[in-house]
Amino acid sequence: MKEWRGIPREEIPWFPSIDAEKCIGCKACIEFCKNDVLEYVEATVKTVVKHPYNCVVECRTCSRLCPTEAISFPDEKEFASFIKEKLSGVPR
Ligand code: SF4
Ligand code: SF4
Repeated sequence: MKEWRGIPREEIPWFPSIDAEKCIGCKACIEFCKNDVLEYVEATVKTVVKHPYNCVVECRTCSRLCPTEAISFPDEKEFASFIKEKLSGVPR
């Protein structure tokens, strides 16, 4: 399992969420991100999150590229306190 700052990546809830109602299937996000996080689904003409834990912790670039603001991430402050708490339990 990959780690981030000593924490197993899959214990870190950082990944995009895509609002299917807002996604227009333009692929701007998927064309940018090479981390195999996102997948374009022909049948629905929308992009979905396929491998959430491949997302780079604290990256938000795809959400900035989305023309319809369909992509969101965890709240910054809540995430910062989550990480702080987690790190306090990591042996050094
Ligand atoms: S936030 Fe960054 S790493 Fe994560 S899916 Fe978007 S572009 Fe890819
Ligand atoms: S950039 Fe936004 S609208 Fe375009 S495919 Fe990605 S999530 Fe959908």
